Amino acid sequence: MIKIEENTDVVIVGAGAAGLTSALQLAEAGRSVTVLSEAELDGICASAWAQGGIAAAVAMGDSAAAHGRDTVKAAAGTADRNVVRTLTRDAPDYIKILERYGVVFKRDEENGGFALNHEACHSRRRVLRAKAGDGFGKELMRALTSAAAQQENIRFVPFQSAVALVREFTPTLGALSGVMTHDRSKNAFCIYPAAAVILATGGIGALYSHTTNPAFATGRGIALAARAGAVLADMEFVQFHPTALALERDPAPLATEALRGDGALLVTQDGRRFMPSYHPRAELAPRDIVSRAVFAELSAGNRVFLDCRTLDTHEFPALRDACLAAGIDPQTAPGFARQSILRKNFAVPKPVRLPSAG
Ligand SMILES: Cc1cc2nc3c(=O)[nH]c(=O)nc-3n(C[C@H](O)[C@H](O)[C@H](O)COP(=O)(O)OP(=O)(O)OC[C@H]3O[C@@H](n4cnc5c(N)ncnc54)[C@H](O)[C@@H]3O)c2cc1C
Repeated sequence: MIKIEENTDVVIVGAGAAGLTSALQLAEAGRSVTVLSEAELDGICASAWAQGGIAAAVAMGDSAAAHGRDTVKAAAGTADRNVVRTLTRDAPDYIKILERYGVVFKRDEENGGFALNHEACHSRRRVLRAKAGDGFGKELMRALTSAAAQQENIRFVPFQSAVALVREFTPTLGALSGVMTHDRSKNAFCIYPAAAVILATGGIGALYSHTTNPAFATGRGIALAARAGAVLADMEFVQFHPTALALERDPAPLATEALRGDGALLVTQDGRRFMPSYHPRAELAPRDIVSRAVFAELSAGNRVFLDCRTLDTHEFPALRDACLAAGIDPQTAPGFARQSILRKNFAVPKPVRLPSAG
């Protein structure tokens, strides 16, 4: 027996940053929205794990065009120019929207403007960070979940795994469209009817044997879209964080890009800095180049470490806590002295069984 739930204008699958910002904007436009998530409202999602921050051309002298040029360069020229133009043009407006939803960005103590990080491939400091050091995702999701909880037009339903998109005509109910879920709290199936469905189910990083992504990120939402006839684009593009803690944990704790932006150096077991021989921008080369360089060093039999001693690691509490729990003080331990701090995310697919079609 499948339970038919209350009808709303839009059903959104996923309660990460994409799902909640869509829900908030639709609710503000007067639409009724149901947000479905496998976890609780403040449950696990990649958005809450973001550390470094969010890029936008907000600094004096910066421009969307410069941000766009850097983005195309970071994509080795393969990026869709129209998408890049839209994202870089609209990013400063979205920062204002996020502030309106309550996100607190770190401010520069001297001039009161945004405090900006330097990250790979940006030609200048451009990454806005949270007040709480490397906890940008936590701050983002704290604000978005609280703003969504205050919106009357948004109904949130946890523990719902989307298993199929519905587009049917039934003799008793007439035309029906929406999402079928497996309600994990009741072990039952439900249909959430809606005129429109947004799939905001995150990425596919957890398909790889070494990953910084949450375990659910296996692309089930993308599979639902494909089964419903959606045309998928650019599926071959997967972004890998070049650096994560090598602690035999799955997923691996991220060592944020911002560390290299603040001066952390990639070295081998004998302290040899290797990035300058791979790219003129060394540790700040595009991520794919840093990842390939780390992989080349590992393949040549070297071990690879991140030496963080020249920066204030107290600014990166998530990394500090993960290191200290593993018996490594990133402030004083030469990365290459005791044990492997970093390992590349090897791009080896692991077998994953996709859910059957509803
Ligand atoms: C460790 C880490 C650090 C990062 N740091 C940064 C950073 O500093 N800056 C930056 O810009 N980006 C960063 N990223 C990337 C960024 O976090 C993601 O691109 C972004 O959060 C994706 O948001 P999302 O809402 O699409 O997905 P998510 O936040 O992953 O949300 C997906 C949601 O979908 C739900 N879901 C999935 N499948 C189903 C299903 N079948 N049924 C029901 N619900 C489902 C999940 O429960 C979750 O609620 C980082 C990513 C990781 C993993």
